[in-house]
Amino acid sequence: MSENLNIFKIVQGQIKEAVQLLGIDYTVYEILKEPERVIEVSFPVKMEDGSIKVFKGLRSQHNNALGPYKGGLRFHPTVELDEAKALSMWMTIKCAVVGVPFGGAKGGVECNPKELTIREQERISREFIKNIASDVGPEKDIPAPDVYTNPQVMAWMMDEFSKIRGYNNFGLITGKPLIVGGSKGRTEATGRGCVVVAREALKALEYNISDVRVVIQGFGNAGSVAAKLFYDMGAKIIATNDSSASIYNPDGINPYELSDHKYETGSVKNFPDTQVITNDELIAMECEVLIPAALENQITGANAGNVRAKIIAEAANGPTTPEADKILFESGILTLPDILANAGGVTVSYFEWVQNLMNYYWSEDEVNERMEQMMMDAFEACYKTYLTYNVNMRLAAYLLAVQRLGEAMRIRGWLD
Ligand code: NAD
Repeated sequence: MSENLNIFKIVQGQIKEAVQLLGIDYTVYEILKEPERVIEVSFPVKMEDGSIKVFKGLRSQHNNALGPYKGGLRFHPTVELDEAKALSMWMTIKCAVVGVPFGGAKGGVECNPKELTIREQERISREFIKNIASDVGPEKDIPAPDVYTNPQVMAWMMDEFSKIRGYNNFGLITGKPLIVGGSKGRTEATGRGCVVVAREALKALEYNISDVRVVIQGFGNAGSVAAKLFYDMGAKIIATNDSSASIYNPDGINPYELSDHKYETGSVKNFPDTQVITNDELIAMECEVLIPAALENQITGANAGNVRAKIIAEAANGPTTPEADKILFESGILTLPDILANAGGVTVSYFEWVQNLMNYYWSEDEVNERMEQMMMDAFEACYKTYLTYNVNMRLAAYLLAVQRLGEAMRIRGWLD
């Protein structure tokens, strides 16, 4: 039977399970199972050839019990309501796990950036933010880059919003270029945060870092940063891949040289002294840490039984299916879930917003140190919950998040 991969239903199911296990007011589930608000807009944009085209955009604002809504904005040919709702829910949970005082949101504009000129992209960015201006802002909802949006798009939206307000509003949005209020350390934050929690898990399981073999699926932004940090700590990167090839060297791969090679040739293919393997072999490689840093649904009911890693640290969003989770848990493999392992990104986004509000900017070391501390605290809290409840780390992270959200709702009077 094929697995149910509807993420909206999966996240709802996990929240429900957490509420029931915690034995807290069921209203917490009733509140969290749907977004508080969904904004749908439709707006005209003048195209390069003089014609007018109407675009649709949406924003799902899931929950703000812990702070203003926060989450990505994508430009994509399909921006589906159910997907945006689920991803906004995921953001609420992720922020609550790491103790970032934000709620969750997600949204986007239905368009194909590959078919748009740079000026058309700018007009869409400005028109979209104009249309949702009364529903976003530093105190309300703080968007960020996502699929096919980037720091330039964030800068245009911030600029337009600032014009509407009549004064600079850098805190509207995160993921901006450094010169207009971006934060140092943001680009590396996801890979760095993932390594911090994996390192803490290795410590908890009493591994010596010099004996650790690391396998990374997806040598992109998050994957290559994780590879370099593990390499610097003395671990061995034995296999990695990208969309064009998978490579293996039992004696270790130098990720700095591999980055240069990928920059020069466009892929990890033909990197010297490596054997070519398949993606399936990479997932099944014997190692201490496996980092999925590419796509969703990579470890499924069909291949989870082959995994020989001791720890899986999910840099990617949703790389492991619920059926795979069960198999991995029964095999004694510790999975550090995405909502914990890739939360370094949203943590530094939070720091970007904090710096914008203070108008005072931190050094890269300060950003990294603060992020490391938050990730270590989050790991410790999740690990404690995991040991107390004897559930997998994903459910442990949900328990922690739902408990924090429930407590905030109770104290705010939402449950009386
Ligand atoms: P990226 O595009 O820089 O890297 C992705 C890498 O995966 C690329 O090297 C690509 O070649 C590789 N890849 C694609 N298809 C593959 C396949 N079938 N097999 C093996 N490799 C394949 O993206 P990124 O920013 O590093 O993000 C990676 C993952 O982490 C995504 O799931 C993303 O949603 C998640 N994530 C990223 C951030 C962030 O701040 N960058 C934050 C949270 C989550």
